[in-house]
Amino acid sequence: MSDLELPSAQAYLSWDRWVADCPRCTDARAVYPEDRRTGKPSPVRVLDQTCAAGHSFHIVMPSPKDEAEIAAEMAQRPPPSRFWHPLGHPMRPAPPDDLPPDQSPTGDADA
Ligand SMILES: [Zn+2]
Repeated sequence: MSDLELPSAQAYLSWDRWVADCPRCTDARAVYPEDRRTGKPSPVRVLDQTCAAGHSFHIVMPSPKDEAEIAAEMAQRPPPSRFWHPLGHPMRPAPPDDLPPDQSPTGDADA
């Protein structure tokens, strides 16, 4: 299998860490894996990874610009609520569909 045929997985933010679930099993990999000696996250993205079960896959990350915007938004929240999923991700919460038409999901009335 060439690199071009690798299955891919969309990265998401979980507990303030970028991760992606293996497309073939339940393992997840960090986009910025921790160095085993220092315990510090990698300073660079690692987008081609192999899970604990040996499945190789490619991680799809938001652009660096979008990642920075997401990080800025998340920095305003307490760490336990720093979660973000891309559109179409299976773990992305469904938008609330029972709101009155004049109310946005944030609870603010639309002007
Ligand atoms: Zn796997």
